Amino acid sequence: MARKPGPGICVHCLKEVQKRNWDHVFPRGWYPDTTPQNLEKWKIPTCKNCNDEYGRMEDDLGIILSTSIDPKSAKAAGVWKKTLRALDPSQGKTNKDRKARAKKGTASG
Ligand SMILES: [Zn+2]
Repeated sequence: MARKPGPGICVHCLKEVQKRNWDHVFPRGWYPDTTPQNLEKWKIPTCKNCNDEYGRMEDDLGIILSTSIDPKSAKAAGVWKKTLRALDPSQGKTNKDRKARAKKGTASG
């Protein structure tokens, strides 16, 4: 992955910040397993707050959208599996991550 973009303007909130991260325009988890390895995945420089906030929204939207795809279609290969993993508390790397996954897997989450 390219090194961090450094100080500048966040593409989302347009604020000048000292530290920015790369945010994937199309979330990495949304690419099917059939995506060519050499496909360029567009990234934009964002502040951490926007990257985190958009990441949460993309995670939630990804779960909803993945329920409407055919998991057997090559065009969506692996996407449903990633969604199930995102909802599985045992796949969490930290306690906080495990709790967040458990919460997402409930109707009230
Ligand atoms: Zn921002």
